[in-house]
Amino acid sequence: MAEKQICQRMQKMIRPYLDDELSGRDSAQFIAHIRECEECRHELETSFIVDYAVRYLDEGKMDSFDIKGMLDARIEEGEKRLARRQTLSVLLWIGIIVMAVIIVGILISFLLPELFSRLTDLFRGSIEYISGGAVHE
Ligand SMILES: [Zn+2]
Repeated sequence: MAEKQICQRMQKMIRPYLDDELSGRDSAQFIAHIRECEECRHELETSFIVDYAVRYLDEGKMDSFDIKGMLDARIEEGEKRLARRQTLSVLLWIGIIVMAVIIVGILISFLLPELFSRLTDLFRGSIEYISGGAVHE
């Protein structure tokens, strides 16, 4: 039952997928589902073929196209694009983390001596206060 709902959702994505209108996450889900679900893949093939039929039938080019092969190529291209996008975002995150570490490192090297000398002053101050107070009384 839940599976049927997933299929319905995926089949609604067929049109946007063919029109290249799916977001990255949607198209990742869609392609993953198409790989596993015979029924949805068949729906996609049908829509794809109809798409090409409408576009090329008039020009008589239909027989020169390996439509299934084209669809396979398209799905693979989509997967590659997603993988590339994932690699890019991983690289971006690594960049951000490296930058953050560098910035934190710079901040620490500037702030630590300052903090340390303040603590020393404070410590010295309170020792002087305690010993000074003892001497005066
Ligand atoms: Zn399905």
